[in-house]
Amino acid sequence: MVLDASILLILHTYQDESIEVYIDFYNSITLTCLCLVSFKTNNMTIQDILQKEELDTKDIATLLQTEGDEQKLLFAKAQEVQLEYVGRKVFYRGLVEFSNVCAKNCFYCGIRKDNKEVVRYHLEDKQVLEAARFAYENNYASIVLQAGERSDDFFVDRVDRLLKDIKVLSNGELGITVSLGEQSDQTYQRWFDSGAHRYLLRIESSNKVLYNQIHPDNDAHDFENRVRCLHSLKKIGYQTGTGVMVGLPWQTYDDLARDLLFMRDFDIDMCGMGPYIEHHQTPLFQNRAQLWPIETRFSVTLNMIAVLRILMKDINIAAATALQAIDPMGREKALRIGANVIMPNVTPTLHRKDYLLYENKPCADEGAEDCSNCLSMRIELADREVGYGEWGDSKHFMNRKD
Ligand code: SF4
Repeated sequence: MVLDASILLILHTYQDESIEVYIDFYNSITLTCLCLVSFKTNNMTIQDILQKEELDTKDIATLLQTEGDEQKLLFAKAQEVQLEYVGRKVFYRGLVEFSNVCAKNCFYCGIRKDNKEVVRYHLEDKQVLEAARFAYENNYASIVLQAGERSDDFFVDRVDRLLKDIKVLSNGELGITVSLGEQSDQTYQRWFDSGAHRYLLRIESSNKVLYNQIHPDNDAHDFENRVRCLHSLKKIGYQTGTGVMVGLPWQTYDDLARDLLFMRDFDIDMCGMGPYIEHHQTPLFQNRAQLWPIETRFSVTLNMIAVLRILMKDINIAAATALQAIDPMGREKALRIGANVIMPNVTPTLHRKDYLLYENKPCADEGAEDCSNCLSMRIELADREVGYGEWGDSKHFMNRKD
């Protein structure tokens, strides 16, 4: 294998990892001879499962538990589907985390309302617009507006104004994804009319019992309302995305398999999912003894991405930043086995360390320029190319519309 300059630069950046690890990763993904090998699981080989037209809960739960050579088979299949249906391109979504003030209290989240140790911030409008301008001038083509969840009039009006201003500053050329939680149908419609065209609302877990275990028991954290919101977004015409956390306390492989089937049955257009990483200032931290080892959460997240790519061939799947919090090459690995979207952080550096939903969040003190340069090298390393200047909308959404 030939190592080009960019690969060597990345390897140099992460000296704590051996070169052999990366070479092994590269080789492992491209080992087509593995197709000749059979691995028996409950009388059905992984290869048998991967050849089925329809996967059921049991099949998916089996795939999610693969490791070693079985996992390589899964990854090889996911990569094959990825290259056939969405290709090598990776699309940027410049992430603007414009406030960490949140009205909610999810038990797993570091910026939950009751965490008094967080330094709260709001970016000024002009800072949000500067971040959007950076994304526009650097040809990212799309941004994501994200913040803690609020639905008061002041907040809703402000987002509406920002959407319009971002459209004006970019001559209508910047695509806008919104990730601002549960809102009324009227608010979703208003923001859509003002320029947002994609919305990411993670279900976190499609198992209502588990959902209720990781959220307070009140109207503001109601599972049914979250599902209602997803339906509302789809009906209005957003490209609708959801996702889950992988490796929550009490979560089972069957839960995760049903999460993927929930996404398939809902017919989502986009997905953003990542490993659950505990935050010591949250109530769920006290259940950390029940967690899978962090390496398992990482590995199963990659399996989730790979299986989802096989299940939903033409949707957009994000390589979550949380993967990189566990493994320096986490996002690159995801891009190789199904993910095709990445979210460079364009939030002013000063505030990044205050938007910590989980701990050890990477790139918290890098400027937007640094992030951009680092990411383009990483994407090249993963044998993918950046779709500069392209919205990179979900092909699944486009195909459904046609
Ligand atoms: S997960 Fe979202 S809604 Fe829940 S507390 Fe964190 S920022 Fe707020």
